[in-house]
Amino acid sequence: TVTTSLRPNFLNGAPLIDGEAARAKETFEVINPATDEVIANIPFLGAAEAEASVASNLRAYTDWRATSAHERANILRNWFALITDAREDLAKIMTAEQGKPLGEARGEVDYAASFVQWFAEEARRAYGEIIPSHQDRRILVIRQPVGVVGAITPWNFPAAMITRKVAPALAAGCTITLKPSELTPLTAFALAQLALEAGVPAGVFNVIAGDAPAIGSVLTGHPDVAKFTFTGSTAVGKTLTGQCASTLKRVSMELGGNAPLIVFDDADLDQAVEGAITSKFRNTGQTCVCANRILVQSGMHDRFVEALAAKISNFRVGNGLEGVTEQGPLITSAAYDKVDGHVRDAVEHGAKIITGGERHEAGPLFYQPTVLTGANDAMRLAEEETFGPVAPIFKFKTETEALSLANSTRTGLAAYAFTQDVDRFWRVAESLETGMVGLNSGLVSTETAPFGGIKESGLGREGSHHGLDEFLEMKSIHVGLR
Ligand code: ADP
Repeated sequence: TVTTSLRPNFLNGAPLIDGEAARAKETFEVINPATDEVIANIPFLGAAEAEASVASNLRAYTDWRATSAHERANILRNWFALITDAREDLAKIMTAEQGKPLGEARGEVDYAASFVQWFAEEARRAYGEIIPSHQDRRILVIRQPVGVVGAITPWNFPAAMITRKVAPALAAGCTITLKPSELTPLTAFALAQLALEAGVPAGVFNVIAGDAPAIGSVLTGHPDVAKFTFTGSTAVGKTLTGQCASTLKRVSMELGGNAPLIVFDDADLDQAVEGAITSKFRNTGQTCVCANRILVQSGMHDRFVEALAAKISNFRVGNGLEGVTEQGPLITSAAYDKVDGHVRDAVEHGAKIITGGERHEAGPLFYQPTVLTGANDAMRLAEEETFGPVAPIFKFKTETEALSLANSTRTGLAAYAFTQDVDRFWRVAESLETGMVGLNSGLVSTETAPFGGIKESGLGREGSHHGLDEFLEMKSIHVGLR
């Protein structure tokens, strides 16, 4: 099982403040959702440790911001190399604490590492500007690190959500305190340990976990924290944004979505089914860009449903550490109850279960891959993110109807559409009210492209060359001439 081959410091997982393992009298348990086993006991930290961490970030900031971009790029490259070397061990602890299939965990380690590599390169591209002036002076714009950063991340991508924030922060010259989800802290501790080994100085990147609201209050309220960045639910994101108002921090928010996936009559059926599976069932349906509502045009409907149901009913479901699987458990019993609740509610409102719809025999947190037809607006799954392996099919007749259904939510993170008609392709891409659109593709996540939402899905963008801007301030310098 997990314990045998791992680097010992990955399993003794400890929070890190100022380069030292932090201790506490109380502990909390990390549980493997596939087996319900306790895999680690972690020091339970709170407000006092968050204060100590911010103080350590502030001390470290003086020297770190003064390093050259070249030096920071080299350290980030070392970190990238260490993450890549530890790929298998990182994937195993990730699957053990989060539940995703080991193949997906390996993919996430690569994805997480790609942000470190990307921002190692971008570290040297924080260019300024020289602006012509109408007066007897010159204007220069330089870009400087924003300062000490507070970050809070969720459990669904225990590695990638961390590097997507920490790598650009470090590249920019910021120091950072990260609070990962208490459900998946081990991957975060391992990444911080590797950063230290890579040469990131003590105090530049601290990781703490325990009392989330108490730590959150410090990271959002402390006057020495200049920037706060969060990935998680819209409800918590709104609360934390409010908390940041008293000290007017720079804020980045990556929040929930309710992604539509539209399949038109003129789509390529195989491509649409493949895209729907990638988008809907990755990470057991627990991603913020997962298709939540699948809208299929009437002429394609029956063929699409049949093909999708045939594929997913063959999924291998089980413990990701034992053999090859395509689907793991849900993260907690609350998550399980929400998924099952959405299915029961949909059936009460007239949905038909084509496949799945029940607990899977693999264990208490496993849900059968599910396809429902006859989905409509009255159902909870039309309004809320299901965050599980349930594909509800909404039937539509016209493009106008599909776009109005797709845009009828308060969130706007990702959307997907499948069509072979080039005019429709542009109309749909430009009309969808989201920050990201997948056309004939179920994937929108890569380190090279801006990731983020509009409407109530968030503020700011991560990844791409824009991702560095979130951690930089512009300063204009006005130079008088004699
Ligand atoms: P999810 O549904 O993905 O668990 P949450 O928004 O509940 O989304 O959690 C995302 C992160 O926010 C986690 O690290 C969690 O511990 C943290 N969190 C939740 N509530 C609070 C809070 N009141 N203050 C600070 N952090 C919080």
